[in-house]
Amino acid sequence: MELPDVTMTIDGKSVPHVDGFDVVNPATEQAFTQAPDCTQDQLDAAFDSAQRAYDSDWRADLPARRQALVAVADALVAHAQELAPVLTLEQGRPVAQAATELHAAAMWFRYFAALEVGPEVVQDDETAYAEIIRRPLGVVAAITPWNFPVLLAAWKLAPALLAGNTVVLKPSPYTPLTTLALGAAVRDCLPPGVLNVVSGRDPLGAAMTSHPVPRKISFTGSIPTGKRVAAAAADDLKRVTLELGGNDPAILLEDVDPAAITEKLFQSSFGNSGQICSAIKRVYVHESRYDEVVEALTERVRAARVGDGFEEGVELGPIQNAPQYARVSSLVAAALDSGATATTGGRQRSGPGYFFEPTVLTGAADDSPIVAEEQFGPALPIMSFRKVEDALARANGTQHGLGASVWGQDLERAAAVAGQLDSGSVWVNTHMAVAPNLPFSGAKWSGLGVENGPWGYAAFTELQLVMRAK
Ligand code: NAD
Repeated sequence: MELPDVTMTIDGKSVPHVDGFDVVNPATEQAFTQAPDCTQDQLDAAFDSAQRAYDSDWRADLPARRQALVAVADALVAHAQELAPVLTLEQGRPVAQAATELHAAAMWFRYFAALEVGPEVVQDDETAYAEIIRRPLGVVAAITPWNFPVLLAAWKLAPALLAGNTVVLKPSPYTPLTTLALGAAVRDCLPPGVLNVVSGRDPLGAAMTSHPVPRKISFTGSIPTGKRVAAAAADDLKRVTLELGGNDPAILLEDVDPAAITEKLFQSSFGNSGQICSAIKRVYVHESRYDEVVEALTERVRAARVGDGFEEGVELGPIQNAPQYARVSSLVAAALDSGATATTGGRQRSGPGYFFEPTVLTGAADDSPIVAEEQFGPALPIMSFRKVEDALARANGTQHGLGASVWGQDLERAAAVAGQLDSGSVWVNTHMAVAPNLPFSGAKWSGLGVENGPWGYAAFTELQLVMRAK
C-alpha cells in the first residue's frame, strides 16, 4: 500500500525529517515504514510558528475560525477512504471501523464549528452591566494515545481552534501516521502555524510539556504519564486537561434481561479489542443471573472473529503494540494462576501478530490485577454479588472513575444505583455513549477537567469578567 503524505506539518508546510523511528503493523509485527522523529529545533520551530499564528488575526476572527473548522471536517470526509487503511495498518482496527473514526472526527469539527459561545450576561441592573467572555489561552500542546489517534485529536483540536488558540499536536509513537496525514490533508484549510503536527518518541511529549511557549496542555493517555504531565505543567502554571485511564464497572441487577443486552455488553467491552478508555473492564452480576450472563457473553465472545483488520468480516483486530500485548497476556495468566477460569479464550493466538483470544474470566479475586487495574485489552472478568451495596462498594473501590453503568429493567431503580457510582459518566442500560455535545471527564485518577460540549470549549479559554458600572 502506498502511504499518503506523512511528513510533519510546521508553519503550514511539510517538513523533511532528519531521523525516523519504526512504525509496526500489529497484525504482522513487521515494521513497514519510519515516522519522523522531531528534533528539538523542529519542535521550537513548531511552537514559534504556533505563537506567531496566535499573535495574528486568527484569534480575532470567529467567523473565519468557524469556516476553517467546517473546511477541516470536509477534508476529513474527503480523505476518509484514503486514511482509513493507514489507520488500520498502524492501529490494527478493521478498516470499516477505522473509517468510522475519521467520520466521527469530522462530526466533532462540525459540532464545534456551530457551537454558540456567548458572551454570557451575568448582571444587568441599575448598578452595572456585566458579562463573561471567553478568551483563548494561547498555544496549546495536544498529546494523544494510540487507541483512537484521530478522534481523540479532534476532541482537542476542534474546541481549541474554535476558541482562537493555535496548536502543536503530537500523536503516540505507536500510531503517528494517520495524524501526520491528517495534518497534511488540512494544510490548506488553516492559516500557517495554526495547526502544527509533529511526531516522535515519548521524550518529545515531555519536551512539549516543559516547553516555555504552550499555555495549555491537553493530554489523553495513561494515569502514570498524566501525573508526569501535571507535574511538568505546575512550574509554569500551564493549564491542563487530563483524560486518563479507566477501569469501568458494569453492574447487572437482578431484573436484567441477559439476552437483550449481550450484544451491547460485548461491544462495550470488546470493541477495539478492549482498548477503549471507557470500555467496560469489569462486570458485577447479581448472583441470581450470574450463570446466564456468563453463558450468553461467553457464547458471543467465542463467536467473535479476530484477525487482520484488512480481512473481510473481522470484528476484532490485534492488540496494538508489543508491551500492551505482553501486559494483557500476563494479567490473564496471573488471574488463571490464582484460580480464575477462562470460559473462553485465555491465551495468545499462535502465529504472527499481537492477537490475543478474546477472553471471559470467572472467579477472579477483587484484588487480582485484572480486576483492580486497567487491562485495556480483550479480556473481561465477571464477578457476582448478592447485595447491591456490596457491588457499589467494589465498583467504587479503585482510584479509577471514568465511566460506569447499571443494567436492569426497572429504570428508576437502575438510575438510583447509578447515582451512587463515583465516575465522570454513569449510564443506564448502555455504556460508552459519547457524543460531541456530551461532557466527558474522569473522576479520581481518571482525569482532570472535561472534554466535549460547551464545557470542553471552556477548558480552552480563560474566563474574563467585563463589568461596566452604570
Ligand atoms: P501513554 O500515557 O503511554 O501515552 C500517551 C501519550 O503521551 C503518547 O503520545 C506518548 O508519547 C506521550 N508521552 C509519553 N511520555 C510522556 C511524558 N513524560 N510527557 C508527555 N507526554 C508523554 O498512554 P497510551 O499507552 O498511549 O494510551 C493508553 C492509555 O490512554 C490507557 O490508560 C487509556 O485508558 C488512556 N486513554 C484515556 C482516554 C480518556 O479520554 N480518558 C482515551 C483514550 C485512552
